[in-house]
Amino acid sequence: MKDKVKHVLGLSGGKDSSALALYMKETRPDIDVEYFFTDTGYELPETNEFIDQLEERLGYIHRLNGRSMNDIEGRGEKDFAKLLKDNGNYLPSQRDRWCTIQLKLVPFERWVDLFIKDGYKIKSYVGIRADEPQRTGYMTIDKPIESIMPFREDGIVKSDIENILQRNGLELPAYYKWRSRSGCSFCFYQKKIEWLKLQENHPELFEEAKKFEKGESNNVKGERFYWMGQGQPLEILESEEAKKRIRENHEKQVERFKRKKRRNALLDGIEDLDEFANLDEIYDEVEGGGACITCYK
Ligand code: SF4
Repeated sequence: MKDKVKHVLGLSGGKDSSALALYMKETRPDIDVEYFFTDTGYELPETNEFIDQLEERLGYIHRLNGRSMNDIEGRGEKDFAKLLKDNGNYLPSQRDRWCTIQLKLVPFERWVDLFIKDGYKIKSYVGIRADEPQRTGYMTIDKPIESIMPFREDGIVKSDIENILQRNGLELPAYYKWRSRSGCSFCFYQKKIEWLKLQENHPELFEEAKKFEKGESNNVKGERFYWMGQGQPLEILESEEAKKRIRENHEKQVERFKRKKRRNALLDGIEDLDEFANLDEIYDEVEGGGACITCYK
């Protein structure tokens, strides 16, 4: 008897998984893919808009949330206080990324379990490109799931991604004008300039993140823990002086990056550089800055 197979593809709101979904439709139209987006409740408005645009091209996208076993689908809810309590009142951080488990992996696991119980084998399509190093920080769940990487198989690289979006009538998600990644509004993988841009673009979301950071949440012994770094609570962005410093440091980084590119004669488009789509490179970090591909790919 033929195996029952369910093909699933997770959309993060980032450009690579979105391009992969469109590319699958173009190159493997015979595969019946179910698309899903795990909505943490703290997504940027720009991400939600982009997912809606994708849905117009792809068809139905399951919105998964972490609420409960009996309530798997639907828009995510803002439930950070409860999550904090359930996780020992420790702020999530790069060292303890409980948020990715609770907000991204648990909802996926609950959803996919329904298929597994029904006797399906799962094939999950992942947007890792041919020009990327072997991933670290790739969180998975302990389930019989086969990961498939069509971009790797077909030699698709970074410069192909925008083309795939464009030929399907899509621009890059609007948050790329001021932020390098999709994911939660309070995500601690943001660089200082991105926190500053969050404050400018979505002051209410910035204030919310500030409250999370300030709350009873900080159980770290000794020096208080802050997302922007030691001794640097988000509150410092109330100071014009601090904002100026962050802007100036960022501009220096961008200039340094441009100089390096000019020196290497990589001049193409460097003067109107898309800063936030290249932010990791500008700051000499590996793509993703260590963040999990589940959140931003
Ligand atoms: S986007 Fe950031 S804050 Fe949200 S789940 Fe992922 S790592 Fe955590």
